[in-house]
Amino acid sequence: MTVRINDILEEVSGYIPDADTRIIEKAYVFSARVHQGQTRLSGEPYLNHPLEVAYLIAQMHLDVTAVAAALLHDTIEDSLTKVEDIAAGFGDEVAQVVDGLTKISKIDFRSEEEQQAENFRKMILAMSKDLRILLIKLVDRLHNMRTLQYHKPKSQERIARETLEIYAPLANRLGIHWLQIELEELSLKYLDPTGYKTLKARLEDIEKAKEAYLSDVMGQIRSKLESMGIKAEVKGRIKHVYSVYQKLKKQGIPFEDVYDVMGMRIIVSSVAECYETLGIIHSIWKPIQSRIKDFIAMPKANMYQSLHTTVFGPGGDRIEIQIRTREMDYIANEGIAAHWRYKDGMQISDHEGERLSWLRQLLEWQKELKDPHEFLQSVKIDLYPEDVYVFTPKGEVKRFPVGATPLDFAYSVHTQLGNQCMGAKVNGKIVPLRYKLNSGDVVEILRSSKQHPGKDWLRIAKTSRAKTKIKAWLRAQENEQSIALGREILEKRIKSLHLGKEVDYEAMAKDFSFPDTDAFFMAIGFGRLSVNQVINRIAPEEQKKEPKRQIRKKSQDSSGIVVKGVENLLVRYAKCCRPIPGDEVVGFITRGRGITVHRSSCPYVMEIDPRRLIAVEWDKNFSENHEIDFSVMCADKPGMLGSITAAIGTRNINIISMKAYPVANGSAMCVFRVTVKSLSELKDLFGDIRRLKGVERIERQ
Ligand code: MN
Repeated sequence: MTVRINDILEEVSGYIPDADTRIIEKAYVFSARVHQGQTRLSGEPYLNHPLEVAYLIAQMHLDVTAVAAALLHDTIEDSLTKVEDIAAGFGDEVAQVVDGLTKISKIDFRSEEEQQAENFRKMILAMSKDLRILLIKLVDRLHNMRTLQYHKPKSQERIARETLEIYAPLANRLGIHWLQIELEELSLKYLDPTGYKTLKARLEDIEKAKEAYLSDVMGQIRSKLESMGIKAEVKGRIKHVYSVYQKLKKQGIPFEDVYDVMGMRIIVSSVAECYETLGIIHSIWKPIQSRIKDFIAMPKANMYQSLHTTVFGPGGDRIEIQIRTREMDYIANEGIAAHWRYKDGMQISDHEGERLSWLRQLLEWQKELKDPHEFLQSVKIDLYPEDVYVFTPKGEVKRFPVGATPLDFAYSVHTQLGNQCMGAKVNGKIVPLRYKLNSGDVVEILRSSKQHPGKDWLRIAKTSRAKTKIKAWLRAQENEQSIALGREILEKRIKSLHLGKEVDYEAMAKDFSFPDTDAFFMAIGFGRLSVNQVINRIAPEEQKKEPKRQIRKKSQDSSGIVVKGVENLLVRYAKCCRPIPGDEVVGFITRGRGITVHRSSCPYVMEIDPRRLIAVEWDKNFSENHEIDFSVMCADKPGMLGSITAAIGTRNINIISMKAYPVANGSAMCVFRVTVKSLSELKDLFGDIRRLKGVERIERQ
């Protein structure tokens, strides 16, 4: 049966008794003229489509403007009609709704995902002006889905997928349950025809098989409630195909294991009766504790309210029961549209108030909802749970995996921006590199030419693009430093030999089978090729004279020190300050002696050319003994030295050397060199010594 204009007018008069329906009639005439001669794929006149859409809008009890706009919704897109024509004939309000619909229809959701998010934003922006745009768009899609059989299989699939991914979640967000269900069922029918058919057949089988069972259970509930003085409407139902389908897919279980395909809905008159009914149900059948949900006290974001419980019904079959009032039931089906429907006394020109109430609704609905970005965020979270969408300051959308940080953002823009990323301004507030981006964030990267990547960045970045770039930078940096270091080490050593001849490094590199001098020096810098090996080749007799002592070369994985961005360098500890693990340290790139590690507080460091300083830190996985000196000022009395050495011995600390000499005022100064593993061990030792009677002062040298 096709919808006729009279059906629409009749429907509208039903809920707006004194409706001025002239604008609807006029819209019908206009639409008929524009679409004249056009046919749908089904072969029927195109006009049937706007009539169907307008009828759906009337059934949702929307106002005259919405019904007229529904009739006109395809007139601009499909013809030479301009938005000005609509405005001239029907007023700005209708024109604005039709214009919004036209804009949405131009959005192509097939594009790249980033583009898709941007399109989504456009759609949200278009419809956030007026909810009627979205409601018409949704029922427009519904009618197109209902007539999808006339499309080619390929476009069937595309439209069905778009419906399932964009429109059904939107309907869900807005709480328009009936629309969501129908969109989902229709989409699934086209996306997995066999799966849909099989599942539907099985559910129908169950429905038949359980018919008697369900009516028995419902009867029990009715009579029990009646005896308690509660007037209730009890409905039984088998779940929708799509919701069962999703459950099977999500949980990866066979159909036999989906237990709660049977549901029941109990409608009562008050909130108090809802809870009362819940108690009565639980007194008849045992509930599954974890499945009792109170959406009355805590409504869902889309305003849904109800009590849910799953009980072991007669024979142990599980039955899901929803309990709610009539009003809650109405909202559960109509969602936000319930708040948008025509009410008595509302003037058509009252749209300003409507818009305000829509905004207020939006604010109540989702407290943090401040702008379209956040709206996008809240809707999109349902759509793409594993992605976050953020904006550049210019409003472009970028997509990242969940957990992505400003580093990922920076590298996605430009490698150099990534390498110099200091942090970011997110929504105007400064955040650290570790900040995890949220959908809707507006991100502005902060950069500094002094900044450069560190190894820890590999843990902060989430995208492989950023990680690859960081690794590349670290490797280049590592190589560069090693080349400089290797060259210095070798040159210095050769100079000290006073060979009186120039060394041809290029020939030398070839001799050691390196492609070039850089690779050759790098090998020395890394300690893969020892200087002695090279010297041996240049001047074998000199090598013998050279004692193998100066460079304390550590095996590759046991230097005890990690140099930022560089691995396996020659490291030794400065004798001037004798750093131990736990001390704040800094590295000094020596000329020819690898890297010397100093305590940051060492006065010598102040005099070093800052360009030769390099950040280092202790390797926490490595522990070895370090020699350090300390002095103790104490009373010059017999047994004093003995008790100090005993304190040291108790901690199993080795004494390398000690000296003691008297100073003024009857005191003595004892200087010890001991080996310790860390600063904390040393501190503990100092604590022990300080507690000894006669000790006045203790100081690390
Ligand atoms: Mn349409």
